[in-house]
Amino acid sequence: SIAPEKKLPWLDHYDPGVPPTLEYPDATVCELFQNTVKNNGEGVALVFFGKKTTYGQLARHTENVATALIKSGIKPGHRVALILPNCPQYVISYYAVLRAGATVVPVNPLSTESELLHIVRDGNVKAAICLDLLAGRVESVRDRCREAGENNLLENTYYTSIGDFLPFPLNMLYPLRRKIDPEARKRLAGTKKLAALLNTPGEPLPVPRVDKGKDPAVLIYTGGTTGKPKGVMLTHRALVANALQCGKWVGVSPEDRLLTVLPIFHGFGMSVCMNASVIAGAASILVPRFDPEEILKNIHRHRPTIFAGVPTMYIAMINHPRLKNYNLSSLRGCFVGAAPLAPEIKQHFEKLTGSKLMEGYGLTEAVTAICCNPYKGINKTGSIGIPFPDTVIRIRDLETGERDLPPGEVGELAIQCPDMMLGYYNRPEETAAVIKKEWLFTGDLGYMDEEGYFYIVDRKKDLIITGGFNVYPREVEDVLYQHPGIRETSVIGIPDGYRGEMVKAFVTLKDGCEAGEEEIIAFCKQHLLPYKVPRRVEICGELPKTAIGKILKRALREQHSGQSD
Ligand code: AMP
Repeated sequence: SIAPEKKLPWLDHYDPGVPPTLEYPDATVCELFQNTVKNNGEGVALVFFGKKTTYGQLARHTENVATALIKSGIKPGHRVALILPNCPQYVISYYAVLRAGATVVPVNPLSTESELLHIVRDGNVKAAICLDLLAGRVESVRDRCREAGENNLLENTYYTSIGDFLPFPLNMLYPLRRKIDPEARKRLAGTKKLAALLNTPGEPLPVPRVDKGKDPAVLIYTGGTTGKPKGVMLTHRALVANALQCGKWVGVSPEDRLLTVLPIFHGFGMSVCMNASVIAGAASILVPRFDPEEILKNIHRHRPTIFAGVPTMYIAMINHPRLKNYNLSSLRGCFVGAAPLAPEIKQHFEKLTGSKLMEGYGLTEAVTAICCNPYKGINKTGSIGIPFPDTVIRIRDLETGERDLPPGEVGELAIQCPDMMLGYYNRPEETAAVIKKEWLFTGDLGYMDEEGYFYIVDRKKDLIITGGFNVYPREVEDVLYQHPGIRETSVIGIPDGYRGEMVKAFVTLKDGCEAGEEEIIAFCKQHLLPYKVPRRVEICGELPKTAIGKILKRALREQHSGQSD
């Protein structure tokens, strides 16, 4: 843990029961999972379309899959990709790979063939557990590795159907009504099936030899918005620390039910939803795809107590025409992060549901969340809250990165925490560019107030410089969200011969709103200094998003340059 050299201003704002330093058990993630099984074997671990899996059942499936993986040649240090949406098979496979002492490589199931190939090669991926619908793509990647003589990659692939864990026939599942395509069906013939392993007991497994602080337990690819994704190496120690910090923050207990709609192949879903609930012995309601009405129905039916989502999920929920038909009163605490949350959205959601909405912040390089607004204490709108226990955030000057800036001044957030990555796999230079003298430089600009609460103003690389003035897109977006007709928005800088860059807003409108470019610009003029006012406003049907639901500014820049070519 970190010895604070001076009194940290945020410590006064911790809730009772959240100590500034936590005790971190000297255990792997799977040892903590087994601990839950021992204490709460009959407790519900997962709910999937109404079907419940207890911790005891989850543990048996996990042991069986781990045995099969070891029999197939998986050893500590090998990498196993999980190419699955949120479903019980993902959770089983995740803990099975860790149980075998191997490294989990979580992969977005919507990845293209070339994205998959990059991860398989870069991460030296030995085996994969995949959704059957993806067999065409995955087997084709395997063929390409064979053709290139890379026979050690994807030696084994296992397939599973979403239907393996449904309490009703697969064709009743509306989002996956899509038929398996003929190519995938052809490639599936003769492949290994996960279902065959789930219930086949093996011999009792020895405890794998892993170094909890040095061996990567998870290799998670990130940073696709700039160049090729890099593999972030996370140890058991980092994963355990983050799951405990998140769980402790709101006091997650076996009585809690977490609504897990954030993809668990992303750090946010993996840690805040999956690992935190498993370690605390809570139930996780798994939802494989975000659909606002599906989420409202799930809350109404399964009465979750905790929900974590990204801003776009909250925007979609509060604007849903049938919101009033659903009872959302079971929620006691909701987290939001991964992208800026406009104050309007927070206030609206809290008023509608009565639940507390706590904004937090984090990044894959530190597993995920590293700070959040307190659960019981002051929840400041527009702030990302205060650092988690054992975590220090400093605001560093942009010129040297060495000087701590006083409250109120904008600089780059640099952090120290027990959740920090080992580095980017096989990329020492890129690692050295972000971890400097034991501080992780986040690339995010922000400031701290006098009370030790932090605020993100924007990403360093999204800053717009127009006619020599700095414009933080976030500030313009927050103003646009005050417009009654705007549903969602994102602001970027576009090239301008005279000013260098100019401000452009992309917006989607609420149903029934007919505002046009001129009216929106006039609205901004009432609230912003002239140089911050967007000179162009483009009304769109939808904004492009990443798998987790962050708006893709890069795609908007491309969209704009495509139009101006
Ligand atoms: P990822 O590694 O995919 O989790 O992305 C991390 C990045 O998401 C951070 O570096 C921030 O730029 C952004 N981010 C996370 N939380 C917030 C937040 N509450 N407000 C604004 N940006 C955020």
